[in-house]
Amino acid sequence: MNVAILLAGGTGSRMGDTKKPKQFLNLCGKPVIAHSLETFENCKSIDKIILVCADEFKKELLQIAKSYNIKKITGIANAGKTRSESSWNALCFLMEILDEKQKDKCIVLIHDSARPLVSKKIIEENIECAKNNFACETVIHSVDTIIQSFDRKTAYKTLNRNELFLVQTPQSFTFNLIYSAYEKFFALSENEKPNLTDDASVVQFFNNTKVHFVYGDKKNTKLTTKEDFAVLEILSRLD
Ligand code: C5P
Repeated sequence: MNVAILLAGGTGSRMGDTKKPKQFLNLCGKPVIAHSLETFENCKSIDKIILVCADEFKKELLQIAKSYNIKKITGIANAGKTRSESSWNALCFLMEILDEKQKDKCIVLIHDSARPLVSKKIIEENIECAKNNFACETVIHSVDTIIQSFDRKTAYKTLNRNELFLVQTPQSFTFNLIYSAYEKFFALSENEKPNLTDDASVVQFFNNTKVHFVYGDKKNTKLTTKEDFAVLEILSRLD
């Protein structure tokens, strides 16, 4: 069984002054989240979709799902204060509803709803890669040079671009692996927790598991600021 967790619990604070979080704003005539919802819905290999969303937007989200004829939604977990907490809430929800046999065979794909243009190809390759290797993340090569700075004012070190990748989602894992990694993370106190901002880094840190690469594409970029709407509108027209 392959389950997609679609994260829509963020407030989109970097978007500036908007009435709703970015995943509920319109992109090319439909809500941002409807784009990836439809792609997961139409992907034959996906069996279930679990949504993560703040209480006050659950009604709107279900309304969107209904309008776009999304049938695979199995539940909505509560948004957490952080992205990690939102992922964990969805995994705890899955822990409750799957039986032992399903847990053993389940592949979980965790996706940012703020990446509306994810393709079926990326989803299929994630499933295949997670089945073969237990853990994978979607990446693209860094085309920019990236430098490290500790004071935010001066360069400390220029990193070797050939070794740098930008991380996207989905990030996909066998259920038991990602659950146990997050269980260890959330067993720590706030002070003890390492600063990990995505799911693959939690698996790498706590389970010492090699996370394999699935190559994504530029279209799968994340909507973060207002300018990204214009970029995504153009990208959505490309094949
Ligand atoms: O904030 P950022 O753009 O990194 O969020 C990535 C994704 O994680 C978004 O789709 C957002 O809705 C989701 N998220 C969440 N719960 C949070 C923070 C972010 O589900 N507390």
